[in-house]
Amino acid sequence: MIKKIHGNVGKIRTQDMKEKMSKSISEYMHSHPGHPFLNYWKGRKMKVQSKLKMSNSHKKRWENKKFRNSQLGENSKNWKGDTLSKGGIHSWMKRTYGSPRKCDECGITNAKRFDWASIDHTYLRNRSKWRRLCRSCHRKYDYRNKNKYVKTRNQ
Ligand SMILES: [Zn+2]
Repeated sequence: MIKKIHGNVGKIRTQDMKEKMSKSISEYMHSHPGHPFLNYWKGRKMKVQSKLKMSNSHKKRWENKKFRNSQLGENSKNWKGDTLSKGGIHSWMKRTYGSPRKCDECGITNAKRFDWASIDHTYLRNRSKWRRLCRSCHRKYDYRNKNKYVKTRNQ
């Protein structure tokens, strides 16, 4: 008898959920050997194990410094410069070019906060596409460009 403990069994799961489940299942298997619930997963055991193997080998590769360095920076094969989220690219700019200390718009140097502002809202990893703006100018700038951006998007 299969003990059904998961409400979403049978439903289509996302890849992410599958991975999370695989992980928790394997942890559960190790801490509860012989539990009846595990019968349900018997058929999937191979699948889970092969997935774990894959993630382990990936971990090993990642622990290799040379490999890791090859995966970071602009030489990375998985470079996601165009797809990185807005927040992610802002923090990347800060990490790479430091926190701005001057506003390119009004020239102020003692504002409470300075931001990196994407000039054409493309959020590319390209310094020339960014300006250093104080919070006040950034807001104005974004507001102006938001309208422009929305307009072109709706055309
Ligand atoms: Zn300013």
